[in-house]
Amino acid sequence: MKIIAVNAGSSSLKFQLLEMPEEKVITSGLVERIGHHNAVFQIKVNGEKVTVEQPILDHKVAVDLLVEGLVKYDIIKSLDEINGVGHRVVQGGEIFKSSVVITNKVIDDIESLNDLAPLHNPANVTGITSFKKALPNVIQVAVFDTSFHGTMDELAYLYATPYAWYEKYGVRKYGFHGTSHQYVSEKAYAKLGNKDAKVIVCHLGNGASLCAVDAGKSVDTSMGLTPLEGIPMGTRSGNVDPSVIKLIADQENRSYESVLNDLNKQSGYLGVSGISNDSRDIVKGIEEGNHRAYLAHKVQVKRIADYIGSYYVYMGGLDAICFTAGIGENSSLIRKDILEAVKVLGIDLDEAENEKRGEREITKPGSKVRAFIIPTNEEVMIAREVVRLK
Ligand code: AMP
Repeated sequence: MKIIAVNAGSSSLKFQLLEMPEEKVITSGLVERIGHHNAVFQIKVNGEKVTVEQPILDHKVAVDLLVEGLVKYDIIKSLDEINGVGHRVVQGGEIFKSSVVITNKVIDDIESLNDLAPLHNPANVTGITSFKKALPNVIQVAVFDTSFHGTMDELAYLYATPYAWYEKYGVRKYGFHGTSHQYVSEKAYAKLGNKDAKVIVCHLGNGASLCAVDAGKSVDTSMGLTPLEGIPMGTRSGNVDPSVIKLIADQENRSYESVLNDLNKQSGYLGVSGISNDSRDIVKGIEEGNHRAYLAHKVQVKRIADYIGSYYVYMGGLDAICFTAGIGENSSLIRKDILEAVKVLGIDLDEAENEKRGEREITKPGSKVRAFIIPTNEEVMIAREVVRLK
């Protein structure tokens, strides 16, 4: 069965076509700069990237190009071969505790959450409606970044703000990267052979979040109402005292919105180092003796260690820490320094294994808390959900 996994942003659309249940990627690609005359459509044909630059003025055109491309490049013989489409949707609020088959009511419900995710949900809906038009007879499923965290207790998700804010406006922690945390923790459970294990997943990419998973359920996570909360990231600050916003707005005669934008886009690695949001540049900066690159790295490590410590206490123990996403999978330095910072929990790092790439254990046999590199695969998780609901 062939399933398309889609991640639609405001001006981009990433996709994978997977053969299920084998979980084999048939092709993948993306459309970038949607809305522009110099948009780019990229698709893998026999393992080679084919890139076409042309005007793509809206998502509908992008989706038509994509599905027609699958036939044109002989990846499938006809559109009838596509058995389902799974869409990543960022915010499912308290409405969607799991993935759902998309109906008009589901689309209305996703749109009702636009205030909670103004940058993401409208783009996700545009992707959905475009695919519904292009493939009207194919099942479409919404898979939410938030739903894996639907098992969090109110102790974990409530902010200590006026309760009416929660009741009236849904102000609470939702958490994100749920498909990734679920995929990685399921792999960890298989490795540990213990379905009651306590696991912390560190999803460290340009966006980054931690998730405490107890017996397969998310019990706490570091992102909040929006992806800004939690640990410092490529360009996001993570937690700060909200009073910073007023102070900078007053000092620089700027709007709250523009300061908030700096917390999302000019902070984290980029803000502290002044060099880059990319961990490779930060590591290079450290090697060259750049103190601010060192600080950007060490501040992040400390804050991640703080979360790991608090999750250890909250879960009453810990069996494994898993590293995933661009930085977690590739940066041996960040893994080593994080594990060093939480060594007191009983971690015996295997330095040689930590220097290697790919799925593996990076602690020595007998380590009280084990650590793993587990590459994430959100597309497979989305495709699995389509198959489950079909
Ligand atoms: P993601 O958001 O998961 O795609 O992760 C993107 C980030 O991963 C980039 O901004 C880099 O900081 C980091 N990254 C990607 N490849 C590498 C690598 N080979 N070594 C270190 N960091 C990497």
